[in-house]
Amino acid sequence: MKRAIKLLLLSALAIGGGLWLTGLGGTVELRFGEWLIAAPMSVTLVLLVVVFAVLHVVLRTIGWLRGWPARRRLRLRLAAHEGAEAAVTRALVRLAAGSPEQALLEIGRARRLLGETPQLLLLAAEAERQAGREDAAAGHFRALAAREDSRFLGLRGLLRQAVAQHDFEGARALAEQAEQAEPGAVWLRQERAEMALATAAWREALALAPMGAPRAALSLAAAREEPDPLKAAELERQAFVTDPGFAPAVIAHAARLTEEGSPRRARQALEQGWAVAPHPDIAQAYLAPTQDPLERVKAAEMLARRNPQHLETHLMLGEAALRAGLTGRARAELQTAGAMPGADRRVFEALVALEKLEQGDAGHLALARAEAAAQAAPEPPQWRCGHCGTEHAHWSPRCDSCGTALSIHWNGVAAG
Ligand SMILES: [Zn+2]
Repeated sequence: MKRAIKLLLLSALAIGGGLWLTGLGGTVELRFGEWLIAAPMSVTLVLLVVVFAVLHVVLRTIGWLRGWPARRRLRLRLAAHEGAEAAVTRALVRLAAGSPEQALLEIGRARRLLGETPQLLLLAAEAERQAGREDAAAGHFRALAAREDSRFLGLRGLLRQAVAQHDFEGARALAEQAEQAEPGAVWLRQERAEMALATAAWREALALAPMGAPRAALSLAAAREEPDPLKAAELERQAFVTDPGFAPAVIAHAARLTEEGSPRRARQALEQGWAVAPHPDIAQAYLAPTQDPLERVKAAEMLARRNPQHLETHLMLGEAALRAGLTGRARAELQTAGAMPGADRRVFEALVALEKLEQGDAGHLALARAEAAAQAAPEPPQWRCGHCGTEHAHWSPRCDSCGTALSIHWNGVAAG
C-alpha cells in the first residue's frame, strides 16, 4: 500500500513537472559544425529518460550473463550437497541396521559427490570396522590423522584399534600424539588410565585415576614398583590413610614403620586397621613379633580391644588361647565365634583341635560333632579374583591367572 502511494506521488510529480516544462516552453539545441539539431525541451527530456532506461536494461543483462556460470556452479554444488546428505543419512541407517557393505556403497556415492571430507572418512572407517576389515579402517583413520582439522579423530580411531589388539606400546605413543592434538581431552584421560591398568603401570594409573577408583590399592601397587624407599614409604602411607580398611595397605605401612625402627607406631597402624576391618593377616602381623604363647594371648587381647565384637576377634583370641593351652578361654571364644553368622571352617577346625587337645584322638562324641560341624561349615574367606574366581594366597594388584587389574578382593567382593 505504501509503495503504491509512493509510486502514485512520484508519477503525479513527473506528470506535473512535464506539464510545467511544456508550459514553460524552450528548445534544446545541439550544434555539430554546420549541423544544428533543435528539439523542444519536453521531447528532449522524454528521450533522455528512454535512453537511460535502455542503458540500464543492457547493463543488467550483461551482469546477469556474466554471473551465469557462477550461479550454475552454486546450483550444482547445492544439488551435490543434497545428494551427499541423503546418501550419508542412508549410510547411517544401514550402519545402524548392521549392514556395513550397503553403508559403504552409500558412503562411496557421497564421496564421489563431495570428495574426501573428514566426516565421510570417519563414517567409512566405522563401516569398515563393522565389516571386520580393521586394516581398511586403519587406512581411513590414518588419512584422518594426516589432516590438520581431523587429526584427533584419526588418532582416536587408531588408538582404539591398538587397545583392542592389545598393542599397548603403540597405543601409548598414539595417546601422546592425541594429547598434543587435543590437550586435556576427558576421553583420552580415561583411555590412558585404562591402558596404565592394562600394562600394570601403577604410578601412571594412580596419577590418572578417576573419582571412585580404588586409590588405596593403586597406591600400594605403585609403592611396590617404586625403587626409591622413601617414595615407596610415602605411597604406602597414602594407601593406608586412603583406606585403613584395606588390610594389605595396613600391613605394608606397619612393616615399613617397623623397618624404620618405630614398632610402636607399627602396632598402632595395625590396631587402626583392625578397628576398621579385622583381617587374619593383620592379626598375624600383630602377633608375629611375640613368640611366647601366653604373651601372644596378651597381645591378642590388646588388638581385640579395638574391635571386641567381631568374628575375627573371637577367632584370633580363641586360636591364641588354644596355642597357650588355655582350653576354657579358647572354648568360650570359639563357641562365641561359632554362633555368629558367617562363622567359617577355621572356627570349627579350631574347635576340633581343642577337642583333641582336651580328650585325645579317641572317637568320642564331642570330637565327632565338632568334625561334622567343620565339614558342614562354609569355606574360609580368601583373596579371590572377582573376574575369573581364582584364589590367591596374597593380595596382588593384578590377577596372574586372567590378567585383570585390581580384581583381587578379600572373599572376591570389592569393599565399600
Ligand atoms: Zn582373575
